[in-house]
Amino acid sequence: MQGLMMDTPLLISGILKHAVRTFADQEIVTSLVEGGKHRYTYKQAEERICQLAHALQKMGVRTGDRIGVIGWNTHRQLELYYAISSIGAVCHTINPRLGPENAGFVINHAGDRFMFYDITFAPLVEALSPHLKTVENYVVMTDKAHAPESKLNPQTYEELIAGEEKTFDWPLFDENTASGMCYTSGTTGQPKGVLYSHRSTVIQTFVTSLATSFGADHTDTILPVVPMFHVNAWNVPYSALMGGAKLVLPGPGMDGESLHTLIEEEGVTYSLGVPTIWLGLLGYINGAGKTFSTMKYTLVGGAALSEKIVKGYEAHGVRVRQGWGMTEMSPTGTVNFEEKGFYDQPQEERIPKQLKQGKALPFVEMRLVSEDGRILPHDGETSGHLQVRGPSILSAYYKYDGDTLTADGWFDTGDVAVIDPEGMMSITDRAKDVIKSGGEWISTIDIENAALSHPQVVNAAVIGIAHPKWDERPLLICQPAPDTNPDAEEVRQFVCKLVPKISCPDAVEFVKEIPIGATGKVLKTKLREMFRDYVLP
Ligand code: ADP
Repeated sequence: MQGLMMDTPLLISGILKHAVRTFADQEIVTSLVEGGKHRYTYKQAEERICQLAHALQKMGVRTGDRIGVIGWNTHRQLELYYAISSIGAVCHTINPRLGPENAGFVINHAGDRFMFYDITFAPLVEALSPHLKTVENYVVMTDKAHAPESKLNPQTYEELIAGEEKTFDWPLFDENTASGMCYTSGTTGQPKGVLYSHRSTVIQTFVTSLATSFGADHTDTILPVVPMFHVNAWNVPYSALMGGAKLVLPGPGMDGESLHTLIEEEGVTYSLGVPTIWLGLLGYINGAGKTFSTMKYTLVGGAALSEKIVKGYEAHGVRVRQGWGMTEMSPTGTVNFEEKGFYDQPQEERIPKQLKQGKALPFVEMRLVSEDGRILPHDGETSGHLQVRGPSILSAYYKYDGDTLTADGWFDTGDVAVIDPEGMMSITDRAKDVIKSGGEWISTIDIENAALSHPQVVNAAVIGIAHPKWDERPLLICQPAPDTNPDAEEVRQFVCKLVPKISCPDAVEFVKEIPIGATGKVLKTKLREMFRDYVLP
């Protein structure tokens, strides 16, 4: 028997309508690419989104068209998110750090018809343009006064929308219509396209809006440092508006000083980003003798949270929550929210719990599978390949011939994890990073976290090096803190006291800078190349 409820679709335009009718005067502030700040209300944002929607239709954008966007976190990109999807087209956000070859590949593979880009990326787009097979028109996201000289002769964003009507009758259509697109970063092969739908996006917005999830609301001022060109900035452009929060967009200012200034000037209470960003910001405030006066929480995800970050931020009155997910999951799959009375516990007791990746969001199912395909227990000890299923998880990559899912319909995350009987999941490693030593699996994350606790280490990564007896053994590679000269054996001994004996690294090496990839995460592929011929002592 079917229920007798209205079948109105879950659409992104519905989030916008709710945001404006409930929180019309709430603010959105942007650190502009051109310099200075832009600020307006939800109501004024909606008017410009409507103007943009009219302009897109006049440009000839049709349902299902892919529109490429290469930009920083700004109000203009926010407008593109809502306008493109709400007229039934697909907002394809492109990561400029992919490098020209991959960026060109994803634009052609997606078949983008139009390209919007920030002035910073004008040289990149101009260099790519002869290789772009489907792009018909270019729009540079600025006004006439700031438009760079360009062979492409792009229209400016501000001229494009000027004079258009400030209202729009948003169409209703099937909630399974594609809304956005994001390619994986291609660290292991060519980037693959993930095509989000309105339904998957709205569901992800609901579940990340829970108090036991990202947990922010209309009393918060939210700063998504995670880029809008990577997995929709963890859906914050949607969840912030649904919750009615003041939204602060950092533009190109991702360095410690710019972020700290923005946080203080705008009274940011809540922010989200990857660990490297938080380490950079922490280094800046400690070095400059500053602190936070309004920030209460940060959500760290995209790579493992370390004790250094938790302790470092708590020292400035900021609490840290961890989330785990991936592009293919919209992206969030788990959040480690605090149990009742969590902060009454001594720091030493609660930090090990905080370093786990968290419990599944509603509708996300997780299972562990062995190398030979057996389903493994959630006993807090057995580790296995983590597979997931749910309404905001992809069913197939865009235009991809291979199998995306297992034969019984689960998505293999490529992560190795442990799940305890209460559903708390901890990532041991990425399957391709885990070190296999004498038949046992060694977690590189544990060793890296231990190394980061060393006062003279600012970043650390562990890779496996071939070993004649044990197959592989860990090599710890560290980036020393500025103006320090740590001793390799002393760092090794320090780490060995904090990890199980089997995980004690065989050697420690220092590099000036740990290489960071397109999404702000440590690039282990590069380190493996650098240390390809390394011989352990
Ligand atoms: P890419 O594969 O392009 O780096 P993603 O951002 O989708 O793109 O990366 C997802 C992966 O990042 C996960 O499979 C996992 O290995 C890692 N990851 C994400 N969040 C965490 C976390 N909190 N702890 C450990 N690893 C994480």
